[in-house]
Amino acid sequence: MGHGPSIFVMVDMEGISGVCNSAQVDSTQSGYAAAQRFMTWDTNACVAGCFDGGASRVVVRDAHGGGLNMLWDEFDGRAEYIQGRTARQRMPAIETFDGLILLGYHAMAGTVEAVLEHTMTSKHWQNLRINGRPSGEVAIDAGIAGDSGVPTILVTGDDKVCAEARALIPGIETAEVKKGLDCQGAQMLAREAAHALIRQAAEKAVRRCGQIKPFVADKPVKITLEVVSRGVVPVNRDWVRPIDGRTFEVTGDTMEQAFRRLL
Ligand SMILES: [Zn+2]
Repeated sequence: MGHGPSIFVMVDMEGISGVCNSAQVDSTQSGYAAAQRFMTWDTNACVAGCFDGGASRVVVRDAHGGGLNMLWDEFDGRAEYIQGRTARQRMPAIETFDGLILLGYHAMAGTVEAVLEHTMTSKHWQNLRINGRPSGEVAIDAGIAGDSGVPTILVTGDDKVCAEARALIPGIETAEVKKGLDCQGAQMLAREAAHALIRQAAEKAVRRCGQIKPFVADKPVKITLEVVSRGVVPVNRDWVRPIDGRTFEVTGDTMEQAFRRLL
């Protein structure tokens, strides 16, 4: 193994190039099979960029739904791949890595004209705040890695999630593969252009790895979550502080602990 940085890549599906509506990210619907290929190709472009940038090791986690979206038989042979569930850590052994990439991510729930915006589940989570700041999955995952001293170096997806990432993490690289026009529509780069952009951004991010600071949330981490539906605020749990019938708060010593207490 070389001396370059080791990189962990979380891959979601909503911000993948070529994906613009909910049928494409739902395994029961047509459009999903093609999106599985798009997700795999964005990943391969990212892995190639990481190695172009001098990475010594790349581990990729398939992080959409049950974690079985990407096509194992089409993966770039230089990286390792986590698929299916991970029982203990959202990003296994993240503390051993030098940088995190959030590939194919999407804006927080409620963002205007953002492709497939949501926070963790589109079913009933709505407004989530971390220590009072409106936040989405970028902040949760950057914060989990940040607690281990790992900087989030690149976010890819639509223009809205890229803006969200830049507002949270100064100096982060972003790759906008589409412009959100609606929750269910986008103006997209073509395949070659999107993959070239991702590859270049990954290379640059890995080269600049040491210059980007980890996002570390103040401790204890306090997360407030407003849900859309009645009757889903967890009850009878020591760590849940109900605020009203649709809002509750949890506190954790780390971002991962606070996040898990929402579930
Ligand atoms: Zn997803």
